[in-house]
Amino acid sequence: MSIAQNLERLHDQIADAARRANRSETDIALMAVSKVHPVEVILEAYAAGQRLFGENRVQEFAEKSASLSSLADAEYHLIGPLQSNKTNRAAELFHSIDTVDSLKIAQRLNTAAQALNKQLPILIEVKLSHEESKHGLAPEDLPTLLNALAELPHLEPHGLMTVPPWSEDPESARSYFRQLRGLRDQQQRLHPTLTQLSIGMSNDFAVAIEEGSTCVRVGTALFGKRTYPPAAQ
Ligand SMILES: *Cc1c(COP(=O)(O)O)cnc(C)c1O
Repeated sequence: MSIAQNLERLHDQIADAARRANRSETDIALMAVSKVHPVEVILEAYAAGQRLFGENRVQEFAEKSASLSSLADAEYHLIGPLQSNKTNRAAELFHSIDTVDSLKIAQRLNTAAQALNKQLPILIEVKLSHEESKHGLAPEDLPTLLNALAELPHLEPHGLMTVPPWSEDPESARSYFRQLRGLRDQQQRLHPTLTQLSIGMSNDFAVAIEEGSTCVRVGTALFGKRTYPPAAQ
């Protein structure tokens, strides 16, 4: 299957899930997660009409971005963890940082965005499971961070993002998605710009759409399995 065919199938599947949930498919963005894959897959997806891309490492995308300057209307989001020494570069390279999970990172991004004279959209990554390996803000710390963001004029908080524990069964993600949506609905009353809910990956995006996703992040189902290079010694 080509990337173009995979995109077509994914749009059909998104439309089906939207219909089941009585939602409009136009309210759900498909993000192409191109991490680990070579820059050629971004170019091929772009040629097939894809415009929104997710990458999870600043350095990896910095290298790819050199070959992407001709794609003027493509949009790139950071969906991997951000270290504080990479905030300047991230603010420069990405249209949105979807993994903000601390005030320290937010403050550094705000300073970087100010220096670049730009407004930077962000999502807050919330950690709803107790896995050691996961990043994200504890849900009880969300109100404090959102209030503090009101003092950072170069950041535009657009919503929440989460990654549930991996499972073969897409249904096991449903309770996490529902919990994130509850948090979003609650905070949106105080912070009306929080409209986005970035949930759902290759194996569970249909469930995520039923639970209110506004952006599904799809890698494997679009680009195939990722082959990670051997770990550096
Ligand atoms: C890799 C990744 C994805 C895509 O996962 P697939 O299962 O390949 O679709 C989505 N979101 C985040 C945060 C990721 O790191």
